[in-house]
Amino acid sequence: MFDKILIANRGEIALRVIRACREMGIASVAVHSTADSDAMHVRMADETICIGPPPSADSYLLIPAIISACEVTGAQAIHPGYGFLSENAKFVQIVEDHGLTFIGPTAEHIRVMGDKITAIETMKALGVPCVPGSGGSVPDLDTARTVGAEIGYPVIIKATAGGGGRGMKVANDDSEMERAFLTARSESKAAFGNDEVYIEKYLTTPRHIEIQVFGDGKGGAVHLGERDCSLQRRHQKVFEEAPGPCITEEERARIGKVCADAVAKIDYAGAGTVEFLYEKGEFYFIEMNTRLQVEHPVTEGIFGVDLVREQIRVAAGLPMSFRQEELKINGHAIEVRINAEKLPNFSPSPGRITQYHAPGGLGVRIDSALYDGYRIPPYYDSLIGKLIVHGRDRPEALARLNRALGELIVDGVDTTIPLFHALLQEPDIHSGDYNIHWLETWLEQAPIQG
Ligand code: ADP
Repeated sequence: MFDKILIANRGEIALRVIRACREMGIASVAVHSTADSDAMHVRMADETICIGPPPSADSYLLIPAIISACEVTGAQAIHPGYGFLSENAKFVQIVEDHGLTFIGPTAEHIRVMGDKITAIETMKALGVPCVPGSGGSVPDLDTARTVGAEIGYPVIIKATAGGGGRGMKVANDDSEMERAFLTARSESKAAFGNDEVYIEKYLTTPRHIEIQVFGDGKGGAVHLGERDCSLQRRHQKVFEEAPGPCITEEERARIGKVCADAVAKIDYAGAGTVEFLYEKGEFYFIEMNTRLQVEHPVTEGIFGVDLVREQIRVAAGLPMSFRQEELKINGHAIEVRINAEKLPNFSPSPGRITQYHAPGGLGVRIDSALYDGYRIPPYYDSLIGKLIVHGRDRPEALARLNRALGELIVDGVDTTIPLFHALLQEPDIHSGDYNIHWLETWLEQAPIQG
């Protein structure tokens, strides 16, 4: 087992990893930019090292600075968290070339899954059901039109290098294809430096269902059921739950096994998420994330496992600590993402926290790096905390969420907390009757004031 792990991240996810390290008796190293000198992850780690100025490109994304930080502190392994360098195959290669361990899958697995076309080809060959589509990159408008006519409108044009919901455009018919195709390409070029796109059938009323998988890197893998992340704004998740309100035990076992078998066949190591759209009883693969997800705590809640601990164990060459037949679902868990954003437009709202009170009590977990007097810097993601609740069933989890939200105080900046108070008034949320478009439609009808 490692003696010391460096965490190449910040905020709540850096704290999450520090906590796992402490429980395992492993020393932790926090890296930080000059904007984060007062951040909670810096206060909580065993050692800290400043790696550069505020912009991420000069600090949290600066590979030489992170490798040097490992050398200076003697850390043997790097946990990347999510975002930043977590899905950067080049980084993983450099980490390995320096004799360090990357806590996650191999550079090759990240490369294959990071390119959406090779990911789809790989998954298809492994027996995973995919969305009908072009199957490969679409080089020009004429080809795009032919593909659109073949698979039938509406279609969605997506960036091969996509992520974070960028570079995606819908065409409802042939007349919309030119604009959608060219916009998707230019957005993709601007966001990812690569204008390669592909086309999929656009599903009109799907749910977003993702399967948590875990591999030992030696041909063994399990699944930990699904998360329903259908409540999204601009393709970004805001509310996640497990198990999915509409997934049956039989469906879970079936799609879970397909995913676990697929990652086992490629000797996948560590945590991964296989994302699907789910419509009329069918699953359609859209992408695989080769890292820990923001919403992993809902899975931890219902299975009673520590996924970060497991990632560290597997990276150190130890066997997984659970077998498929031992993984049993207990109750229901929900996570809401608290962002420092001003409603109704969700514009960033950095600034100083004048008062912070975290809720507590049975079945309540808060993963946040906030504290009284903390100044949220303007340079990074607006996620400032995750409130996760667990109950014996979905109604109990929803009641607990309502209760915990009532206790939570974050003053000094605007947050998305009022959004969740409003959502909990909606019958559709209580019945679980929503698809990936529900939230945006609802927000258009009744904008939420902060
Ligand atoms: P990203 O990597 O940018 O997050 P994804 O492929 O995971 O892109 O898609 C993000 C979201 O976009 C999905 O959760 C869904 O809401 C929507 N989406 C993607 N593909 C389709 C599709 N074929 N039909 C309908 N919606 C889609």
